[in-house]
Amino acid sequence: MNDFKASGNPERWREYDQKHIWHPYTSMRHPLPAYTVSSADGVFLTLDDGRRLIDGMSSWWTAIHGYNHPRLNAAIEEQLKSMAHVMFGGLTHQPAIALAERLVELTARPLQHVFFCDSGSVSVEVAIKMAIQYWFAQGRTNKQRLLTIRGGYHGDTFGAMGVCDPVNGMHQMFSGVLPQHLFAPKPHRDDGTWDDAWIKDFKDLLENHRDEIAAVIIEPIVQGAGGMNIYHAEYLRKFRQLCDENDVLLIFDEIATGFGRTGKLFAYEHAEVVPDILCLGKAMTGGYMTLAATLTSTKVAEGISADGQGVLMHGPTFMANPLACRVGVESIDLLLESPWQERVSNIELQLKKELEACRNLSVVEDVRCIGAIGVVETTIPVEMPWMQERFVENGVWIRPFGRLVYIMPPYIITPEQLSKLTGTMYKVLAEWSERVG
Ligand SMILES: *Cc1c(COP(=O)(O)O)cnc(C)c1O
Repeated sequence: MNDFKASGNPERWREYDQKHIWHPYTSMRHPLPAYTVSSADGVFLTLDDGRRLIDGMSSWWTAIHGYNHPRLNAAIEEQLKSMAHVMFGGLTHQPAIALAERLVELTARPLQHVFFCDSGSVSVEVAIKMAIQYWFAQGRTNKQRLLTIRGGYHGDTFGAMGVCDPVNGMHQMFSGVLPQHLFAPKPHRDDGTWDDAWIKDFKDLLENHRDEIAAVIIEPIVQGAGGMNIYHAEYLRKFRQLCDENDVLLIFDEIATGFGRTGKLFAYEHAEVVPDILCLGKAMTGGYMTLAATLTSTKVAEGISADGQGVLMHGPTFMANPLACRVGVESIDLLLESPWQERVSNIELQLKKELEACRNLSVVEDVRCIGAIGVVETTIPVEMPWMQERFVENGVWIRPFGRLVYIMPPYIITPEQLSKLTGTMYKVLAEWSERVG
């Protein structure tokens, strides 16, 4: 086998990386340093200089079982022996069928049909297409807009960008080419109370534009990258009711929240509300391969072809990649065989208890937790490079953004490892309080 290694030494690799490779949301003129990871195992990331970091991010919600899991490794190795990939047009395979069976089984009963795609953003594109095509096929050709709530994040492709928070969504410069969708206010942070007045703006927008709106799209219970907002389940019940009353479909984007992260297998279970279309991704393969899915009800699936010939207009090259599907099957089985509910609820209790101390720091605005998600919101944007380095020096991997320092660790994390994460969050935030006065 060829030695695949980049030429030179670790210092040169870092330089090459900075000079030639974009990382998420970075500049080629002012590149930020990236740490070189040489391996990952359990909850640990090992850097090329030998340092081991406890991972607080699960590689952006994905690595729920930790890294280098023997069962996930074995599944993908086994699949590799029969086939790495085949096209999905006109062909099918057991990994896709087995994964679809599990997704249909685990999600709410009306969701019966699965579209596999290559990333979360694409699954949102597909969900939007499904909704517009559904109404088109019923002759309601004006229903092409979407209604959402501020503070959302649905991905980086154009259709998905169009429903991200218009200010926070990191996409302002594209507003001229994005479809003009409708935005209701950001939902109130959940403090256990509910007031019907909170839904009024949403209701007015929906009722006033019902003839133009194809669907409402939202992240149930937890808004992720748009601000890590946690909101009351009553919102979901109201969204469902208002959508039904106004002939509008309801799309839930559970790309971040799916597969147990909020303490329920899917966040919509907190409200016992079922969407017409559901987007899944991120943790679906336990962090091994990029794969996402858009699920829908028979009503929507058949409705898309109501005019007798309509087909769903999408078909990615790597649709239902067998390696990804096979590891997805294994990840789901592993999750269901594990005491995940107990693990996630223990993590929640510990996060609530241990992050509480952060409230006393002058730079801290709010602390909130749900399931295996712990968020500390700061009063001013964090100094990213400084804070990132402090975390690494303390042996943890936590990647803050904006005014958010947050963790969503692998479910297998031990109480001691979790204390190390929360303790370091407090320590570094306390240092930063001193630093900014
Ligand atoms: C990450 C995310 C997406 C986008 O998924 P990608 O795989 O990054 O394209 C969409 N919606 C939500 C809620 C997400 O958290």
